[in-house]
Amino acid sequence: MQQDDVKQAAASRNTVPHWFNPDHPHLDIRDGDGAYVTDADGNRYLDGVSQLFCVNAGFDNQTIIDAMVEQLHKAPYVTPSQYNDTRQQLSEAMLEKAPDSMGEVYFAVSGSEANEAAVHFAREYTGSHKILTRWRSYHGWNYGTSSLTGNGWSSSVIERNAATTGAQQFLPPMSYRSPFDADTPEELAEKAADHVEFVIRNEGPDSVAAILMEPIAGASGAYTAPPGYFERLRELCDTYDILLIADEVITGFGRCGEWFGIQTENVEPDMITCAKGLTSAYAPLAGVMVSSEISEYLRDDGVPLGQTFGGHPVGCAAGLAAISEYENGLLENVRSVSPYLEERLRELEDAHDVVGNVRGRGFLWSLAFSKPGTEEPVVDPRTENTDNPVEAVADHAATDGDLLVWPGRPQTQIMVAPPFCLTRADVDQI
Ligand code: PLP
Repeated sequence: MQQDDVKQAAASRNTVPHWFNPDHPHLDIRDGDGAYVTDADGNRYLDGVSQLFCVNAGFDNQTIIDAMVEQLHKAPYVTPSQYNDTRQQLSEAMLEKAPDSMGEVYFAVSGSEANEAAVHFAREYTGSHKILTRWRSYHGWNYGTSSLTGNGWSSSVIERNAATTGAQQFLPPMSYRSPFDADTPEELAEKAADHVEFVIRNEGPDSVAAILMEPIAGASGAYTAPPGYFERLRELCDTYDILLIADEVITGFGRCGEWFGIQTENVEPDMITCAKGLTSAYAPLAGVMVSSEISEYLRDDGVPLGQTFGGHPVGCAAGLAAISEYENGLLENVRSVSPYLEERLRELEDAHDVVGNVRGRGFLWSLAFSKPGTEEPVVDPRTENTDNPVEAVADHAATDGDLLVWPGRPQTQIMVAPPFCLTRADVDQI
């Protein structure tokens, strides 16, 4: 199907203009159940990307809805400086699932704010200013986090000015389109970690507060690190007294087959930030989990995190219910269905020259589109919202496959990150 035909087919459905690209139609989603959503015309789609890695427990989840309604009746709001039993129970449930190093939870409203809080804590705790992040990472849209975000599309030149924000990027351990010349994953881990050490020493170890990194890259394309890389990062952080912060806004709460993405790397971070899957996006809620040492420091000397809507009780009720849903079968489903999802996606790499690379973990996958026989993207990653053939693939999937997928950022790929209730038949549809 040609790109124009796809556009025409898309236009025949009841769509509304894209919020920043009027040429690109958006579906008018009205309803949902399980892994499926329905548009205003009654067309049903498999939501292959969970509304951007959010609705992990699926749509119309009665357990979560009931918990939220019950909380609304009991106590719709209790200010964060006061005790609230639902908030307390959620903290305990989160810490139970988290790596042992985590000792306390602070609540925020969005992933961006959780990351800003983590940076705030890291600077207070270490007395240092700089934060190292991965090139092409995404950490949020606020003033602070858009400077931490290692891509050009979501931050202005001023926000990315390292002199004012203290954010400094390093090259990621990508195995595809790699900035490193390595023959094996072990060599890649070594070279990429040596590079991080170079950046630390070049910046001056005393000036660096933290390394902030997604355990498995999210929007930039489900990149997993080569074995040993995160262990080396942990060692570097210990050597130079730098904190390791895992941004688990996407990977937290089961998306990669463990409760937290960093657990798939066998590394204990100093802080974990989370949002999206925490409540399965039934309510806006985010968290920063900190180590016992940092928690002790914050209690004694630090400035507490206090946003009016941070730890909103209705969000906390949704979080508790979502965790119980993950616990009662959904996480197990990710573990049992993901090998089949991987197998079927990898078939596409063999079947189509243009699918250059398939990578990911659990229910977080990316198909990179490349000019056949090369690792060169089919579209220049610096161009956005033009006549992008990858956008056309996503439109084609929706109009002819009743499937929602997402061209990540950069838009050189198709991302697949379905709700945790996905079945093997759903995998076949994808
Ligand atoms: N960190 C990561 C890894 C994300 O993917 C996102 C959002 O997509 C954020 C942080 C920002 O979260 P929010 O949009 O809730 O502010």
